[in-house]
Amino acid sequence: MNTKESLILQGLRAILVERLKEKGIQDVRVLNAIGKIQRHLFISKGFEKQAYEDKPFSIACGQTISQPFTVAIQTELLQVQRFDKTLEIGTGSGYQAVVLAEMGANVYTIERFRELYLSARRIFRQLGYSINSYWGDGYEGKENFAPFEKILITAAVPQIPQTLLDQLAVGGRLVAPVGEGSTQIMTIVDKIDENNFNTAYYHNPFRFVPMLQGISEN
Ligand code: SAH
Repeated sequence: MNTKESLILQGLRAILVERLKEKGIQDVRVLNAIGKIQRHLFISKGFEKQAYEDKPFSIACGQTISQPFTVAIQTELLQVQRFDKTLEIGTGSGYQAVVLAEMGANVYTIERFRELYLSARRIFRQLGYSINSYWGDGYEGKENFAPFEKILITAAVPQIPQTLLDQLAVGGRLVAPVGEGSTQIMTIVDKIDENNFNTAYYHNPFRFVPMLQGISEN
């Protein structure tokens, strides 16, 4: 993979970061990560410029790479710190996982489509990130590596899966788009102790692909 890029793409990425600031993203560490990572490497060749528009984009298996603003706000709300053991559900293109890794998180990520899992693994290796990635069902989490300080769900859930709340560390935070219909509300859950949670909402509707049960051989 050619990871050298043109000044044009660098310029477009700098403009994207400015747009995200205008839209309210404040965490400099999030902005720096987005300013550094070559998002065009996570989508099909030939669409390099579109990679720096603030829009979602189709990837394989009928899935999407989230819009940069969505990645930015989810990451900001997660308040990820260096070395936080962080579980992402829905690897997709791998872009969000790389943003978390770039911020110093110790990332575990799960994807139900085999093809997406394989291509994300390849790009993590090519870009030199050591991210623990798995082909599996996110509803099961990753029991053997729990508890996680942070959990990020990047697919729409009707409610937050209990298994994932169980695998969240006390003092940890989970962020997920929750909703039954076509849009979701970003939901932030802090685990106070084994049985007590604080829930808050970010009041903007989002539109995610659904979190589905089971794995896919594709
Ligand atoms: N975070 C991704 C975007 C994710 S789109 C990125 O940065 O590109 C949501 C992803 O969640 C899709 O790839 C979808 O296949 C995956 N997904 C849906 N249900 C899942 C499940 N039960 N377990 C794991 N992944 C799931």
